[in-house]
Amino acid sequence: MDKNGLLRNLPKIDELLKEDKLNYALNTSSRIIILEAARKVIDCYRGKLLKEEIKDYSKEEVIEEILKEINKKSLSNLRKVINATGVIIHTNLGRSILCKEAVKNVMNVCESYSNLEYNLEKGSRGTRYEHIEQLITKLTGAEAALVVNNNAAAVMLTLNTLCNDKEAIVSRGELVEIGGSFRVPDVMRFSGAKLVDVGTTNRTHLYDYENYINENTGVLLKVHTSNFKILGFTESVSLEEMAALGDKYNIPVMEDIGSGTLIDFSKYGLSYEPTVQASVKNGIDVVTFSGDKMLGGPQVGIIVGKQKYIDEMKKNQLTRALRIDKITLAALEGTLKMYLDESLAVEKIPTLYMILSDEKIHEKRAYELSERLKKELNDNWRIRVDKDYSMVGGGSMPEEKINTYVVKIKNSVYKPVQLEEILRKNETPIIIRISKDEIIMDLRTIYDKDFEIIVEALKDK
Ligand SMILES: *Cc1c(COP(=O)(O)O)cnc(C)c1O
Repeated sequence: MDKNGLLRNLPKIDELLKEDKLNYALNTSSRIIILEAARKVIDCYRGKLLKEEIKDYSKEEVIEEILKEINKKSLSNLRKVINATGVIIHTNLGRSILCKEAVKNVMNVCESYSNLEYNLEKGSRGTRYEHIEQLITKLTGAEAALVVNNNAAAVMLTLNTLCNDKEAIVSRGELVEIGGSFRVPDVMRFSGAKLVDVGTTNRTHLYDYENYINENTGVLLKVHTSNFKILGFTESVSLEEMAALGDKYNIPVMEDIGSGTLIDFSKYGLSYEPTVQASVKNGIDVVTFSGDKMLGGPQVGIIVGKQKYIDEMKKNQLTRALRIDKITLAALEGTLKMYLDESLAVEKIPTLYMILSDEKIHEKRAYELSERLKKELNDNWRIRVDKDYSMVGGGSMPEEKINTYVVKIKNSVYKPVQLEEILRKNETPIIIRISKDEIIMDLRTIYDKDFEIIVEALKDK
């Protein structure tokens, strides 16, 4: 058939909709989406015919293209990706994956009404925080707890409550930027606290804080410099000394520990990351930390500390604006319950498992993935297993390099940057690292169930 004939014969939309396959798509997609997809594909074929980029087509082929387009349109913008980077707490990729129990909790609470603010014992109004406060105090040893939207909010609420129009004394070495534009000095300004930075970048002594204490001092603040380390000639004040200084002058001592782990990673052969329990035990009055970093839960900011300070925060109007919703609450309770048994937590909470699991496990898995790829891919591919390092990420344990195994892949036709793009634009996007002439997939952050998707994404290329 000539060009004009082919153009004239392009299937009509209403005819197409009568086709079984598209009619069947109506079960799962709306009519509008199917119509839009059909129009787009037909327009595309018309364009290609006019430009003589194609010489022929079949109706079946057009229908398949429309089905693909429907599929694309049905995907959510926010969707699953495979994190093959080996950065475990990857802020761009959603930080922590929830454990199964947390997800189950979320489903339960979202598919029905819940007792979010209803006290079932008394049959009267309750508060959303009472569901988890006891669990948090039990795990951390603190007197009281409050949960807000994220740790930035936790810091802001704490400073606003304890230090509005007053001075917060902080070491110059701890005026950090965490990334995603969390800068300690900026957050402090927003909270209404006046920043008084003392000491020097590398050394701050107890007397540096003490010298600046006056009747207008609101808090003594310590910030965990999560994402960098100052090495060499350094000095900082211990938690006990800070707590004692606060006691002496009757000024609350607050600590933002960022990552907020509840388990001591040094027990497992990694570097020590400050635990929440240690800060509480050492007498810090208020401690704030993230829920989706090393804790491995949903995005929240957890505030623990002395009852009187937490009570004041609960009354602060800002708390209403920073409150968490039931989805978050359900996820947090599901996560925290795991910590009642540490052996369960390190097994079931993905973030902890990824950090702590034995490299030998990932060696075996790397060979499994590489064998599957070798079996399915053509001769243009070179695939090998190698040792490498994973990172904790999320500004936590910046120095810790965790031994891991990776699959390294190269192709004689596609350059690494092209492979990166192909994988990134896959229906389930696969995010990888590039090193020289190879792409790298780290098994530590990939699930077994994702092997199939990875193989499919590269097959026939
Ligand atoms: C990550 C971090 C924050 C910000 O926490 P979000 O939960 O991301 O809001 C604040 N302070 C420290 C020390 C951090 O490490």
